[in-house]
Amino acid sequence: MKVLVLGAGVIGVSTAYYLAKDGHDVTVIDRQPQAGLETSYANGGQISASHAMPWAAPDSPKLMLKWLGRNDAPLLFHMRLDPAQWAWSLRFLVNCRPGRFRENTAKNLRLALYSRSLMTNIRAETDFAYDRRGLGILQIFRQQKNLDRAALIAEELGGMGSRSMVLDEEETKLLEPALENSSDRIIGSIHTPEDESGDAYMFTIGLAEAAATLGVTFRYGETVTSIGTSGQHITDVTTDAGIYSADAVVLCLGSYSTLLAKSAGVKIPIYPTKGYSITLPVNGSNAVPSISLTDEDNRLVFSRLGDRLRVAGMAEFNGYDTEMNESRARMIVDVTRAMFPQAGDYNQVEFWTGLRPLTPDGVPILGRARYDNFYLNTGHGTLGWTMAAGSARITADLISCTTPEIDLPAYSATRF
Ligand SMILES: Cc1cc2nc3c(=O)[nH]c(=O)nc-3n(C[C@H](O)[C@H](O)[C@H](O)COP(=O)(O)OP(=O)(O)OC[C@H]3O[C@@H](n4cnc5c(N)ncnc54)[C@H](O)[C@@H]3O)c2cc1C
Repeated sequence: MKVLVLGAGVIGVSTAYYLAKDGHDVTVIDRQPQAGLETSYANGGQISASHAMPWAAPDSPKLMLKWLGRNDAPLLFHMRLDPAQWAWSLRFLVNCRPGRFRENTAKNLRLALYSRSLMTNIRAETDFAYDRRGLGILQIFRQQKNLDRAALIAEELGGMGSRSMVLDEEETKLLEPALENSSDRIIGSIHTPEDESGDAYMFTIGLAEAAATLGVTFRYGETVTSIGTSGQHITDVTTDAGIYSADAVVLCLGSYSTLLAKSAGVKIPIYPTKGYSITLPVNGSNAVPSISLTDEDNRLVFSRLGDRLRVAGMAEFNGYDTEMNESRARMIVDVTRAMFPQAGDYNQVEFWTGLRPLTPDGVPILGRARYDNFYLNTGHGTLGWTMAAGSARITADLISCTTPEIDLPAYSATRF
């Protein structure tokens, strides 16, 4: 079958890889000169299946109110004259209800665990490096009550297949000696040993090369402008360089999926949520964390990527704006320096922002939509790399008429 994949982020590239393995004739279109240059470029670097909880959580409304109007808050909500933003926010609030939170967590966890298991196969099938570390993820805490609450959630996730261990202060520092230098006292942690970390961009370009070897054509530097339809069928995809037709079209345009889906009359509630990362060269000493960390108090994640340290976090709801708010970016540097003062060269920090394609329930959108040959694989929000392989395998299964390992209706756009 001739398949067009729109978007060469980690989701589009993974989709193209599995489609090519199934024997399809695949073309990927992306506006950038290379794969992985937008949101998949400098993310937190975690394969965090055990942290699959959506942001729409029971305590989120209270936290958001507390943070309202504070420039130093991990989450900034800029109210805009934008009905899409208001509608999205209402849906987000509905999904903060405890029952919905549990349901959405279970959906994410199922997909993320499946995805993490497929990463092992991808590594066996290919031979590119991406600064991978298989040491798990350590979620660190400064207050006992927060650790106790997280331990309860971890126990619940344990029943769904996510393995974790609660560690006290001494055990935490034994596992990650770099925390000895932190200005704050870390009183304990939760270790999820099967999680991983690495460089999502290196992974994306490595997998794009593997896909090209399998016969995938990449059309870079082309912007998709519209999707043409007739009756129940997608007829063509128009770019600024030409018109394409195919037997099937897969939409993987991250935060921009909403705009292009709309041109085909399909509504999907994805809102761009700006995040920040910093990357600094490290000095190789044991003052640098070697295990990937999640710091819930500061809403930051830390991943050692070869001879670099990546720190990512923050959330801003402000449309498609990708501008760097310097004072917010500096806050990440300050927290990192306080925790790991001798980690590396803080004068050589690289800053980055990217737009998480976030759905109101925090669950991605997968499956066929409205037309008999139109497929969605998008809206992965905070967990795009974590869920990329699984979402791509499921999408390829659907197109190849194979029964997917995970039930698709739970991820369908019709849930909205
Ligand atoms: C600060 C931050 C930290 C994060 N940390 C993690 C983490 O630790 N672990 C994790 O799993 N996830 C993390 N994420 C989320 C993850 O990075 C995203 O979910 C993932 O990258 C989304 O991939 P994508 O392929 O859907 O989107 P993208 O990578 O944005 O790819 C979409 C592609 O579509 C192309 N495109 C868009 N519009 C058009 C058009 N009109 N024509 C042609 N091409 C177009 C773009 O050029 C782009 O290449 C983080 C995100 C951020 C912002």
